[in-house]
Amino acid sequence: MSAKELPPGGCNKGVVIPLVFSCPQECICKSNVPKKWYHKQCGKPLFVSEYGYILCENHLKDCSAFFIKDAFFQCNEAKKNNSWYKYRNLSNMLMALSNIVQAAELKEEEGLNIQSFTKNLLDELNKKWNS
Ligand SMILES: [Zn+2]
Ligand SMILES: [Zn+2]
Repeated sequence: MSAKELPPGGCNKGVVIPLVFSCPQECICKSNVPKKWYHKQCGKPLFVSEYGYILCENHLKDCSAFFIKDAFFQCNEAKKNNSWYKYRNLSNMLMALSNIVQAAELKEEEGLNIQSFTKNLLDELNKKWNS
């Protein structure tokens, strides 16, 4: 599924691209390899909007969108210990986000303005991270 097929409305606003990044630093897998993330609740791929919201294709139905700062991640390694990890500081988050941007650039999604996506996402994160 591409970002274009996501049902519009709710937090699906502005530019939305697939959520592709590595685990938070604290994760026991110690891997820096970016991966595609899926919603634990429904198993569908996750996307991130330029306003910093993570959502899946069911975001208007059974699932709700959440702000990227509040997101917990669990890779297969962390699953074995039933652990969840989150990004605790903005600089780690920003490094991870550069993966998202690179992945989207590689795919060259049609009409995607990656510069404005990055700028808006940074603005939102700076505004909301410490609030
Ligand atoms: Zn991990
Ligand atoms: Zn979902």
